[in-house]
Amino acid sequence: MKSHAKVVVIGGGVVGCSVLFHLARHGWTDVVLLERDELTSGSTWHAAGGMHTINGDPNVAKLQKYTISLYKEIEELSGQATGVHLTGGVLLAATEARLDWLRGVVSKGRYLGIDLEVISAKEAAELMPLIDPRQFVGAVRNKEDGHLDPSGVTHAYAKAARKLGAEVERFTKVEDIVRRPDGLWRVITNKGEVVAEHVVNAGGLWAREVGRMVGLELPVLAMEHMYLITEDMPEVADWNKKTGTEIIHAVDFDGELYLRQERGGMLMGTYEKANKPWSEFSTPWNFGHELLEPDIDRIAPSLEVGFRHFPAFQNTGIKQIINGPFTFAPDGNPLVGPVRGLPGFWVACGVMAGFSQGGGVGLALSNWMIEGDPGADIWAMDVARYGDWATMAYTNAKVRENYSRRFSIRFPNEELPAGRPLKTTPVYDALSAKGAQWGVAYGLEVPLWYAPEGVRDEFSWRRSSDFDHVAKEVAAVRDGVGLSEISSFAKYRVTGQGAAAWLDQMLACKLPKPGRLTLAPMLKEDGKLIGDFTLANIGDEEWFIAGSGVAEQYHMRWFEAHLPKDGSVRIEALGQRLTGLAIAGPKAREMLAKVTRADVSNAAFPFMAVARMDIGMAPCLVGRVSYTGDLGYEIWVAPEYQRAAYQALMAAGEEFGIGLFGSRALNALRLEKNYGSWAREYRPIYGPLEAGLDRFVAYGKEADFIGKQAALAERMHGGKLRLRAFIVDADDADVIGDEAIWHDGVVRGWVTSGGYAHNSRKPVAMGYVPKEIADEVDGFEIELLGKRHAARVQAAPLFDANFERMRA
Ligand SMILES: Cc1cc2nc3c(=O)[nH]c(=O)nc-3n(C[C@H](O)[C@H](O)[C@H](O)COP(=O)(O)OP(=O)(O)OC[C@H]3O[C@@H](n4cnc5c(N)ncnc54)[C@H](O)[C@@H]3O)c2cc1C
Repeated sequence: MKSHAKVVVIGGGVVGCSVLFHLARHGWTDVVLLERDELTSGSTWHAAGGMHTINGDPNVAKLQKYTISLYKEIEELSGQATGVHLTGGVLLAATEARLDWLRGVVSKGRYLGIDLEVISAKEAAELMPLIDPRQFVGAVRNKEDGHLDPSGVTHAYAKAARKLGAEVERFTKVEDIVRRPDGLWRVITNKGEVVAEHVVNAGGLWAREVGRMVGLELPVLAMEHMYLITEDMPEVADWNKKTGTEIIHAVDFDGELYLRQERGGMLMGTYEKANKPWSEFSTPWNFGHELLEPDIDRIAPSLEVGFRHFPAFQNTGIKQIINGPFTFAPDGNPLVGPVRGLPGFWVACGVMAGFSQGGGVGLALSNWMIEGDPGADIWAMDVARYGDWATMAYTNAKVRENYSRRFSIRFPNEELPAGRPLKTTPVYDALSAKGAQWGVAYGLEVPLWYAPEGVRDEFSWRRSSDFDHVAKEVAAVRDGVGLSEISSFAKYRVTGQGAAAWLDQMLACKLPKPGRLTLAPMLKEDGKLIGDFTLANIGDEEWFIAGSGVAEQYHMRWFEAHLPKDGSVRIEALGQRLTGLAIAGPKAREMLAKVTRADVSNAAFPFMAVARMDIGMAPCLVGRVSYTGDLGYEIWVAPEYQRAAYQALMAAGEEFGIGLFGSRALNALRLEKNYGSWAREYRPIYGPLEAGLDRFVAYGKEADFIGKQAALAERMHGGKLRLRAFIVDADDADVIGDEAIWHDGVVRGWVTSGGYAHNSRKPVAMGYVPKEIADEVDGFEIELLGKRHAARVQAAPLFDANFERMRA
């Protein structure tokens, strides 16, 4: 074994081998994979080997498509068979709501280049003969489904990597990992030590143990998972003989089941409700190629559904039940990327669908390590989407919930209950008493809307029980004054004598003067957006930044990686050590004036001003800015004072008819102002010109800010895309996000968000289209629940196009 390597990859499952292959293919060949046993000694060896392209997140779906396209290449490169059978498959819907969901999947597939087609239940049964079509209302055909040999694929990655110069050391167990003072990593094994610049944790079932070696508690948990294999079935033999083809895959969403042919019989896997975690706290090192005891009682309810939906199963025997563990992150997507605070330590774990996702994970991680960027929008897999709130108990609750609903529909207005409430702010009870319906962002409870007694969300793809109540919240803001809880923003304090120079280099905007705020895009080297913030100059070398709450860890990782080493700049994420309230609407100033002795007149405290002031008895930091696009104020307050500030504002607001508003109303308000939001309109694949944020970029400023050259090039060449706002000719259902945008009968773009702009009384959407058609107004259509609806570009905001209200 070599004593030094550029990269040590820990774990020889499908994920580690894919990472090794991709690093070598990308040109890093001084790389070694350490496996404690034979390759495939974790969950990989007993996988059912199914693969498919669909995923709830379109960017993960793209990487799944890439993974499937890769198998031919690694087979040719390695000479190792992967056993790929691209059979195609059907995704079955037993309810209309499920079919609505599948229609959305098809729409997404159109701009992702995934060939999907809605078919009837009868047509599905013609393609997959075991289906009882009476049990289903429709289906989607996917030509890119299939299955493979898990061990063959893993060895093909490893052999291809070796051919490119990478090394694989089997029977080499990593026992400890220690960071040296010079930043290199000592990877200590039972066979000696390797010193490496980078370490990748691809430990699969032992990812937690490997993480703990560097003080990291990763939010992953293994679940027991069962699939059965039947005896040979005459129906299978007949079909194979008659058509000369295998029986295609089927996913039965309502039964939480998947099926495929296995030799002369069938394989059926279940995601049962009565699921069971495996080795909740630590994974035994002596576990390897064993299987777990099958428990047919646990999966019996699922099998009952399966046997009804696929009646031929009733006449066959079960040859074998496989029960094996594999790991999940709380939301079921992988954990990939660099770990904040541990330079050179990377993770590629929590991969629950290694044969659909392993290739994409390897590609993204190798790009990230070599180029400094994953090369794709992988937010849905980024390890930074979790913070230290994702504790072991939280992970346990969430993974169990996620497993039990693996194939369940999540309606756009549905909030999942497990692991909640976890983080709450001091006004939580007061807002609950007013009917707050809670959602969650980065572990924190956030009010979505306020329901009168007896009214609750009815889960639906269409307008629902909240519609009229959200409309009232919107009206409260536009007609008078509204108050919302905004603690879910990320908040950062930057201090030190080097702070201004550092911010000037990190952010693309012009820095504001003391007492002023500005909108602040942040770019990567390639000129794409990596953040959009509000930046406040508090004075005396103190700066305050507010940004997307879900991206706190993501942004702190970026900020810290770029801090000067001389200690001249300090940045801290304030988390819930600073909470927030916002007031907005034409009467907001008059109301604010009642609770503070500060002069908040337009002359003394104009648009984009920031100042410390007391609200009632509570000391606050107040910025005159509002995401509602109205006259408004963001009020930042220490949690111990939040209640007092809230009570003072509500009491003062009484005479102005103050109303509470939640994030659904905020969405309706910001959409009619054409305001984008991070993780929707603003993501690391769009440039500022494309995203319409170029007006906040100080192209001419002296500081050589990150991404400046690329941003200048984008401005010169015009980029590829443009963000546009649309009015949609929709009736009972509104756009959510990720729908296809058609133009002149061809899919040309995708929706980033949408909804109903209650104040303007219009269904609206925002999305990206190629710049070549971005100046067109008509000819667009947005696909919604399988139907195309005419959409018209709305260039000027529907509300207050001259920005008079916010400046008044
Ligand atoms: C019953 C079942 C059915 C499944 N069906 C499918 C399916 O149809 N399709 C699909 O895509 N996925 C399926 N999966 C999931 C799939 O198996 C996993 O997604 C995949 O195996 C994860 O691979 P991995 O490389 O991350 O982890 P693992 O396979 O667990 O590999 C981790 C490796 O790291 C090694 N290791 C750990 N710690 C150390 C250390 N300290 N030193 C050295 N080596 C170490 C281990 O020995 C192991 O070989 C199934 C899983 C099960 C259990």
